[in-house]
Amino acid sequence: MNKPADALALARELLRCPSVTPAEGGALSLLEGVLKDAGLGVRRVTFSEPGSAPVENLYARIGSAAPHLVFAGHTDVVPPGDGAAWSHPAFGGEIVDGTLYGRGAVDMKGAIACAVAATLDYLAATGVKQKGSISFLITGDEESVAVNGTVKLLKWAAERGEVFDHCLLGEPSNVAAVGDTIKVGRRGSLNATLVVIGKQGHVAYPERAENPVRGLVALMSALMAEPLDRGSENFGPSNLEFTSIDIGNPVVNLIPGEARARFNVRFNDCHSQASLKALIEQRAQAAAGKHVRWRIDWEPSNADAFLTKPGAFIDLVVGVIKEMTGRQPELSTTGGTSDARFIKNYCPVLEFGLVGQTMHQVDERTTIDDLITLTAVYRKILDRYFA
Ligand SMILES: [Zn+2]
Repeated sequence: MNKPADALALARELLRCPSVTPAEGGALSLLEGVLKDAGLGVRRVTFSEPGSAPVENLYARIGSAAPHLVFAGHTDVVPPGDGAAWSHPAFGGEIVDGTLYGRGAVDMKGAIACAVAATLDYLAATGVKQKGSISFLITGDEESVAVNGTVKLLKWAAERGEVFDHCLLGEPSNVAAVGDTIKVGRRGSLNATLVVIGKQGHVAYPERAENPVRGLVALMSALMAEPLDRGSENFGPSNLEFTSIDIGNPVVNLIPGEARARFNVRFNDCHSQASLKALIEQRAQAAAGKHVRWRIDWEPSNADAFLTKPGAFIDLVVGVIKEMTGRQPELSTTGGTSDARFIKNYCPVLEFGLVGQTMHQVDERTTIDDLITLTAVYRKILDRYFA
């Protein structure tokens, strides 16, 4: 079998595994078999925690020396939604006109298949004499709460003496074509609830009450009025977005005693969580003056902003992408969070995978050409990395 066919065949088999998060669905067992056959040592580990479902994870490695390149990814997928809305079954792995359909085609079973195919081909070419180490860090817990996945798997690996030099995470980084975008960082994310406390009373006797809605509106306006920053060299401006206003008052003649509004902040590398909280609370206090009683309940967050610094690894990946696709990739920090936020604590991480246009959508799909291109890019990266 030639290598593009391997990536496609493996991608189809993975798509037929119904691994809706956090179910394993046969996807990790499939990878375990393929990687073991290629000579990698494979470990399966299940992590659990009160209040969340236990989740299966996989770690595989070949070689014992440095440098150590790790391919990271997740085999869990978001639910397909209304199955009848799909033109081709969500877990069928069907190919129509050069396009492979299925939940996870781009996010991100397709990229895992490409990385495995590239590695198998590389190992076949170099035999046991390959320099350094290649590993796979694959979780089944990325799309949901992400507490029993990569974050624990990295810790587990570190406790066993595993040291990674660089990581490629196969999230669908590209916007329109394979090669147009590498993610070199991600914004942070914070959730909070703004609470304004008033005094309950009859609407006909407002002088005996204190309506918290006035204070809430004033504080919300103040927090939306001024930008948090103007962006930084590698990031766009941070953004605060209110997502819900909650008073829950079922009657028409009662001034409520309390009013709440929830918001999310996506923030860049101008801020730490602490400095951001301080800035927002300072603005709220300025708007509240002496009259409004308020507080902000911050939810815990494990999503800080980070940036992988320019250097030889980025240069290598950019060079290979240019050579294999003819495109000059943009180095981007846009989009939501990913498991890269955990990996960056262990080694430099870049995200490069398929085209993200249909991720989490009905008829998620990738072209076979893209699978071939991505496999060729990963394969060439292995050549250069271990040269
Ligand atoms: Zn993903």
